[in-house]
Amino acid sequence: MATTTKVRKTGMYENVMRQFERAAGVMNLDPSVKKILAITNNEIVVHFPVKMDNGDVQVFTGYRVQHNNALGPYKGGLRYHETVDLDAARALATWMTWKTSLAGLPYGGGKGGIQIDPKKFSQAELERITRRFTYALGDNIGPEHDIPAPDVNTNAQMMAWIADTYMSTKSPAERSKNQHVVTGKPVGSGGLEGRDRATGFGVVVTLEAWAKLRNTTLEGKKYIVQGFGNVGYWTAHFMNKNGAVLVGVQDATGTIYNPDGMDPEDLLQYQKDNATIHGYTDHDFDGSKFFGIDCDIIVPAALGNQITEENAGNIKARVIAEGANGPTDTEGEAILLANGVEIIPDILCNSGGVIGSYYEWLQNRNGEIWTMDDVITKLRKKLEDAFDKVVHTSEEYKTDWRTAAYIVALTRIEMAYQQRGIFP
Ligand code: GLU
Repeated sequence: MATTTKVRKTGMYENVMRQFERAAGVMNLDPSVKKILAITNNEIVVHFPVKMDNGDVQVFTGYRVQHNNALGPYKGGLRYHETVDLDAARALATWMTWKTSLAGLPYGGGKGGIQIDPKKFSQAELERITRRFTYALGDNIGPEHDIPAPDVNTNAQMMAWIADTYMSTKSPAERSKNQHVVTGKPVGSGGLEGRDRATGFGVVVTLEAWAKLRNTTLEGKKYIVQGFGNVGYWTAHFMNKNGAVLVGVQDATGTIYNPDGMDPEDLLQYQKDNATIHGYTDHDFDGSKFFGIDCDIIVPAALGNQITEENAGNIKARVIAEGANGPTDTEGEAILLANGVEIIPDILCNSGGVIGSYYEWLQNRNGEIWTMDDVITKLRKKLEDAFDKVVHTSEEYKTDWRTAAYIVALTRIEMAYQQRGIFP
């Protein structure tokens, strides 16, 4: 985020491990299970050449970290961003293990990506980079082994290239049964109706559940969103349907503010036309003061380590809904909790995306076509149940919501290890 506080390239894994240590202590996690979960299972680093449009060859580095698969195949997105490195992939893979467990899915956690700024490459180059990365990963991914999906700066088109490349490496008779090697595909190529909006929709379902818990509604609530990509836009779309008022948006291209409210659909069109959000409102807003905007709800939906000890004390909002993974570091979180700001933690708040992915995977695996209604109804129910479970666990253990979410997730994994034992 060019206009906001500095992005730390390292430290994300440290953040997830601090959260893990805290929860493991509160719940008294089995020490053997703790040892296993404190480290990733596999870390795959691939270097692969790609021919650029001008004929030059460039060598790229791609990552796939597989944290844990006690509950099922590794699952998680691929990110194309300059902050992608082994530390980030480890952290993000670990969060996926907690997220899929909390949601009750038959998955473990994985994450990967390439350290690039996709804006610097043509569409044809991005296609060759994506296909060659998929080829380099080979059978380290697979429909019953490790299933990638979209994340920051990756989209349905890229998932279609991954599916096509992976399936093309199989014999003709085997191809179709490999379609679920990746989720988040376009609807015409095995994708799920509603997967595009699943994360943002889920963020808003958790906010609705928060509002209900606090005897209020989202109607008239002022909110700000950091990041106006897939998660940020769809969150704003569903927030406005609830009558909430979008007063600020920040992304890598600028920070905009309008206390009277902005229309997300109009802003999306502006962004499409201008490749920036900058200039949408009359005046530039000081990006470093973004999180201090007078509002009720903050939705960080961009990168990690955005709410820190540098800015947490300025926050006026009542609740933070973590659309991004790891947006709040442990120091920032301590300040927020001391100030009575509630946090709907990432592994709950943004889990609509991977839950949608699970439905897509089932759809492909079973040869079914689900409708938008099926998806939205099931997604809402699953998220409301997870929210209730977290609130209930936080009361039982007298702890914050993030720690409670971890306890629910870790308990399920702990049980799997205790029932199965350790081979040999
Ligand atoms: N990238 C999303 C996440 O961080 C979705 C992962 C998936 O659908 O597998 O949860």
